[in-house]
Amino acid sequence: MRQVKHTPDQDKPLHFTYADRHMDQAVSKYDIPEEGMDARVAYQIIHDELNLDGNPALNLASFVTTWMEPEADELLKESANKNLVDQDEYPQTEEIHQRVISMMGRMFNAPKDCDPVGTCTVGSSEAIMLGLLAHKWSWKKRREAEGKSTANPNVVFSADVHTCWEKFARYFDVEMRVVPLKPDQFFMSADQIGEYIDENTCAVGCVVGTTFTGQIDDVQGVNDYLLKLKAEKGWDIPIHVDGASGGFVAPFVYPEVKWDFRLEQVRSINTSNHKFGLVYPGVGSVVFRDRSDLPEELVFNITYLGGSMPNYSLNFSRASSMVLLQYYNFLRLGRAGYERIMKNIMDNAQYLEQKLLETGYFELLNESKYLPTVTVRLKDRELPDKVVYLLSDLLREYGWIVPAYPLPPKADTVHVLRMVVKENFSRDMAEKFATDMQACIDKLNTLAGDFEAYFEKAKAKGLVEGKGRVC
Ligand SMILES: *Cc1c(COP(=O)(O)O)cnc(C)c1O
Repeated sequence: MRQVKHTPDQDKPLHFTYADRHMDQAVSKYDIPEEGMDARVAYQIIHDELNLDGNPALNLASFVTTWMEPEADELLKESANKNLVDQDEYPQTEEIHQRVISMMGRMFNAPKDCDPVGTCTVGSSEAIMLGLLAHKWSWKKRREAEGKSTANPNVVFSADVHTCWEKFARYFDVEMRVVPLKPDQFFMSADQIGEYIDENTCAVGCVVGTTFTGQIDDVQGVNDYLLKLKAEKGWDIPIHVDGASGGFVAPFVYPEVKWDFRLEQVRSINTSNHKFGLVYPGVGSVVFRDRSDLPEELVFNITYLGGSMPNYSLNFSRASSMVLLQYYNFLRLGRAGYERIMKNIMDNAQYLEQKLLETGYFELLNESKYLPTVTVRLKDRELPDKVVYLLSDLLREYGWIVPAYPLPPKADTVHVLRMVVKENFSRDMAEKFATDMQACIDKLNTLAGDFEAYFEKAKAKGLVEGKGRVC
């Protein structure tokens, strides 16, 4: 019989190497197991199971940050056990939270005489809801003061918005008035909005960096239109800008374009710090132009954690890590660092764009000017729409995750592939991606137009058609 090897502590034989005997039994999945297991084994089992996920570095579908520096990882670990909401116990963390808001208020060009306030959230979805709720509340107060009805508030935005805008309308019982896209225009222009606005409009939404094509709504035009309405009818309708994706790109890549607090009607802006703020998932923010834009009734004073703490959020407890990591990036990169990174990723996006055009297979929906995203459609309009879905599936075989989808209403005959270029997507990766894309196209060409047959085969292999996602 083989000797069991012993560690210096004779009572503790070295009883596992990789993950011990747990590996030959299925672990409990839907009921809590009766007995626990060794920490290392539990770690190894979960770690290994996660290998079945896609590779974040090859995920061109998502805008969300997939890489940070080791020092950031260190901070993350150190602060995971501090609840952001416990401001009284962790006052320095709260101090940093406020600095982050202040830096963003200035980044969004809040005028000198304004006092920008706001809060970090779990993401832009929460931030957009908080922004719109504040405007709904202010509208209600204004109407009450004028002795007018507060029934049927509405919010106006374009079909190019993220789903969270519709979520807001449904969850908080506000009528949504959606400005459709056009078959050849994929953002909202000022000339489209007049017929959707009335005295019950509590806010107009504009997107800076749409999820679908990376373009921007005409915020300046909308602002001018609303200023005219204010002068003519006395309606003071605020703009909430959804800068989830563009909020950290615009200030560094096209600082001359006015879309932020330089425009009078822009009263609140949200951004996803976990997108181009370059922080891991779990942090967004909403910033109001001035303290007076956030109704004080919405800020709750919490007393049961010790002290009295102002709180404006939909969620409550969460780790403070991501807020601290945003502060880390501000200190670590400075404006110059952000500028360099944003310019690099824009350059890489434009390079990828060129490479895809060189295949002769695609045409651009628009140039990558406002976001480092590349959105293409098929050049040959005779090819069936499903070819983009097919390409998305084929790219998966090379590890790349690229979504294919139709654009929103009135432009929904356009089917696209979209790639988000992030910090970790190097020139070399762009080369490799273009080569793999060419291989996918070659594969398609061997089908000689018989896509139906391919689809049947793909289905038989268990591949599903068009599982494109937008995130
Ligand atoms: C990503 C995105 C959102 C949602 O942001 P989360 O931070 O994921 O909640 C909203 N609007 C736009 C334009 C986005 O790109």
